[in-house]
Amino acid sequence: MKKLIVASRNKGKLKEISEILKDFYEVESMDEAGFAVDIEENGKTFYENSLIKARTVSLALRCDALADDSGLCVDTLGGAPGIYSARYGGIHGDDKNNRKVLLENLEGVTDRSAKFVSSVVIHTSDGRIIEGYGETTGKIATEEIGENGFGYDNIFISDDLGKSFGIASDEEKNSVSHRYRALKNLLEQL
Ligand code: IMP
Repeated sequence: MKKLIVASRNKGKLKEISEILKDFYEVESMDEAGFAVDIEENGKTFYENSLIKARTVSLALRCDALADDSGLCVDTLGGAPGIYSARYGGIHGDDKNNRKVLLENLEGVTDRSAKFVSSVVIHTSDGRIIEGYGETTGKIATEEIGENGFGYDNIFISDDLGKSFGIASDEEKNSVSHRYRALKNLLEQL
C-alpha cells in the first residue's frame, strides 16, 4: 500500500484520517516520519493553509503528503471562528477554552446554525496537487454534550446524526463529517 505522510500534530485529526483512508493508504504522521518543525499557517483560506502544510512536508521529506485545514463556521458570527478555529480563545490548540469562549459569545443567541469545513490537499513527491473539500452542518449546543472527539465536537449537534459529535461513535462521525466528505471528494479525483 502507498505511504502518505499527514502534515498534522492534531491527534484527533490523525486518528480520523487514518481510519477513513485505511483501505487506500498506509498513513503516517509527520512526527513519525521525522518532520519536527512547526509550520506557519499564514494563508487566508482553508485551502491556502492546507496547501502550505502539505507542500512543506512533501518538499522537506520528498514524499506524498496530505494536510487537512478545517474549522467551525458559525452563521450568526459571520463565519467565525473559521480559519482561526484552533486559536479562537487566544491559545493555539486549547480546545476547552475555545469552546468556552464560543459558548459565551453565543449566550442568548437563538440562531445557532453552523458548519464544519475541511479542505484537504495531497502534494505528491513529484509536485502534483490534488484537493478535496467537505462540509457538514449542525447547530451549536448551549452546553457541552459528551466527551468523544476533539475540538468543538461536543458542542456541535450534527444535522445528519441528530446528536452531538461528543456522543457520536467514531464510525458515526466518520460517516457524515466534513473530513470524511473532503477525503471522499479527494479520492474521487485520484
Ligand atoms: P487547523 O486545521 O489545524 O488549523 O485547526 C482546526 C481546528 O478546527 C481544530 O483545532 C478544532 O478546533 C477545529 N476542528 C476542525 N475539525 C474539527 C472536528 O472534526 N471536530 C471538532 N473540531 C474541529
